[in-house]
Amino acid sequence: MTATFRYFVERALIALLFIYTASPLHSKEIALTFDDSPRFATGYFSGSERAKKLIRTLKQHEVQQVAFFSVSKRLDEEGISRLKMYSDAGHIIANHTHTHSDFNQLSLEEYSQDFEQADLLLRQFDNYRKWFRFPYLREGDTLKKRDGFRRLLKENGFRNAYITLNNYDWYMEGLFQKAIVQGEEISLDKMRDYYIDVLMQSIEHYDQLAVKHLGRSPRHVLLLHEMDISALFIGNLVDELRSNGWKIISPQDAYEDPIAQYQTSNIFKFNPGRIGEIAKDKGQKRQLWHSSLSEEYLKAKFETEVLSKADTLP
Ligand SMILES: [Zn+2]
Repeated sequence: MTATFRYFVERALIALLFIYTASPLHSKEIALTFDDSPRFATGYFSGSERAKKLIRTLKQHEVQQVAFFSVSKRLDEEGISRLKMYSDAGHIIANHTHTHSDFNQLSLEEYSQDFEQADLLLRQFDNYRKWFRFPYLREGDTLKKRDGFRRLLKENGFRNAYITLNNYDWYMEGLFQKAIVQGEEISLDKMRDYYIDVLMQSIEHYDQLAVKHLGRSPRHVLLLHEMDISALFIGNLVDELRSNGWKIISPQDAYEDPIAQYQTSNIFKFNPGRIGEIAKDKGQKRQLWHSSLSEEYLKAKFETEVLSKADTLP
């Protein structure tokens, strides 16, 4: 091999290696979804401020499309205008029942009616999709309920819009809003760092769990809620994800993953999400819920990292 030839071979190998590692095929992929819209807004932002901030931030961060799993009972005038803003911005509106009912508390018939009522009311939005997300991720605690509702979704052309990445963002929102009501001085920088750290921990946990049981990182679906801390920090979360090698994809693309066809054979009274289902089906018993899915943990961390005055003195 001449020196020149060897030089070209080396350059070609380096280029190939770069293409391989930088290829989108090899980055981890994640779609963003927001539940409970139009969720009550009586704290930091009004409903309309929240929606505008969320839409603007997603656009600034070049996130083309997210999904809003909506509860139709909350469609008063303001709620309708909020969902219309999301739909007009190109985001997906989908079904999360009429009353945010808990399947463990209702019969199959009652739950089906709640689903159908939401379907009728949410159709008014241009970007409505026949996607269903179970409130509390509870998919039926008996065989009759689980299989009966699976059949109903199928007959009506609905997708089970599962999540893969679970967390307690709603509990962090509660801590944030309560501190504001109590007149605490909250550093938004500290709140942001707390929020990002908690979410990244659970995201990496579920991704590792997926790799362990599937042998690959699937196209993920992140569960978030339509809340003030989501509107405040979604841009920061997107930046953090990207700097850790994640690519943001649309929920539509995420549901093209083969795990969308997966159906657990177990009955879950409390469901940890699709990765947790797969892990349990494969015999794993612990850590189906990541340790950050704990009110006690989140409260203690909030008190030390967000409320602590220790390092805020001039
Ligand atoms: Zn919900």
